[in-house]
Amino acid sequence: MTRTLITHADIVTLDSAGTILRNAEVAIDGARIVAVGQAPAGFQADETLDARNHVLMPGFVNAHTHSPMTFERGWAEDLPLDRWFNERVWVVESQLSDEDVYWGAMLAAAEMIRGGTVAFADHYFYMDRVAQAAEQAGLRALLAWCVFGEEHNIGVDLPGTVDFVQRWQGAADGRIRTLLGPHSPYMCEPRFLARTAAVAARLGVGIHIHLAESQQQVDNSLARYDRSPVELLEANGIFDVPTIAAHCICLSEIDQAILARRGVHVVQCPNCHMKLGMGVTPVPALLAQGVNVALGTDGPASSNDLNMLKEARLAALIQKLHHADPELMAGDLPLRMATQNGARALGWPDSGAIVPGNLADLILLDCDQPHWRPRHDLVANLLHSAQAGDVSHVMVAGRWLMKERRLLTLDQERILWEAERRALKLVGQDLAIVRTYAG
Ligand SMILES: [Zn+2]
Repeated sequence: MTRTLITHADIVTLDSAGTILRNAEVAIDGARIVAVGQAPAGFQADETLDARNHVLMPGFVNAHTHSPMTFERGWAEDLPLDRWFNERVWVVESQLSDEDVYWGAMLAAAEMIRGGTVAFADHYFYMDRVAQAAEQAGLRALLAWCVFGEEHNIGVDLPGTVDFVQRWQGAADGRIRTLLGPHSPYMCEPRFLARTAAVAARLGVGIHIHLAESQQQVDNSLARYDRSPVELLEANGIFDVPTIAAHCICLSEIDQAILARRGVHVVQCPNCHMKLGMGVTPVPALLAQGVNVALGTDGPASSNDLNMLKEARLAALIQKLHHADPELMAGDLPLRMATQNGARALGWPDSGAIVPGNLADLILLDCDQPHWRPRHDLVANLLHSAQAGDVSHVMVAGRWLMKERRLLTLDQERILWEAERRALKLVGQDLAIVRTYAG
């Protein structure tokens, strides 16, 4: 087991007291942090890193994405949700191969590491290949193979996703975990949702799903079932297992109370919500009711990147603007949502804060740059001034994935070539799609 000592770091710990340490040390033994502030007496490090002029903080957790959608970055611009799905996204997805998914996920992994992401919750197709990419990259991942119902699935149907769950649960020294991924209450029939919930309960795994993305979805659900999408999921047993619900924009007060009572993890994706004109997740109200709200980028087809620092900033800005209240989402709250709240949603509550005993999932940002001066308030520097490219070092479970901006686990040159070649080939073809989005 490797022992690492990081010295002379300014540390934004995001511990319960919001402690900030200057010129401090972090000692790491194997996968875990053993001391913060000063190394224990007699700590023999295999490696010492001088982190002068760097800020150290917990790594980011992207709690909702479709990482292989890097292929569709810039391919579905300035469209409403129905045309975005039907005319662009599903045209490409209907012809994806598992090899495409692998290279899309590898491209995403390289981008995520460069931006300081240490863990991601992915929801896509051919997920064995995403698992392979996560394993090779050294990232943590919670993976779901997305299914739409009894038919029109990509790669496998529900029993196949069960096999996937069992194949990869706890793989890569426990860095990879799995769960079920029904697409949404608007694409999946209630009977299928109930079946999925029963299967998840039997397997002892959670569910990752899209929820309440638009008022049209809510209206259609009420017209068809006399239930909101949140009520529909609850009635069909989805919330009987740990659930990650992405978006949750259009919620009644009853919906919010259900999410709070059932301990559902809500993931807001501010970049995507703004770009697709979807609306604003009622984050302050959800937090006030004790809901764990995390952040995600959603797929790069909608947000165009996998930049969690940007999501944290937008999570602050979108609420301040929406409520015309600059005091909302104050201090380090958006950073907590982008780190420890995500880690909790993904099932690693011992990640996301720089405290002894926690997993050594951490990043360093190079603040020897003009936009970092002066350093009155490191949290404000991080949240409102820092850039993803400032991330210089990334560590997951005590292992460096990037040092001095050099990727240690991935061959970036090969990834860029393979991914772009395949993406261009995919959009050059014209195949029929099998699904229609109707909210
Ligand atoms: Zn999504």
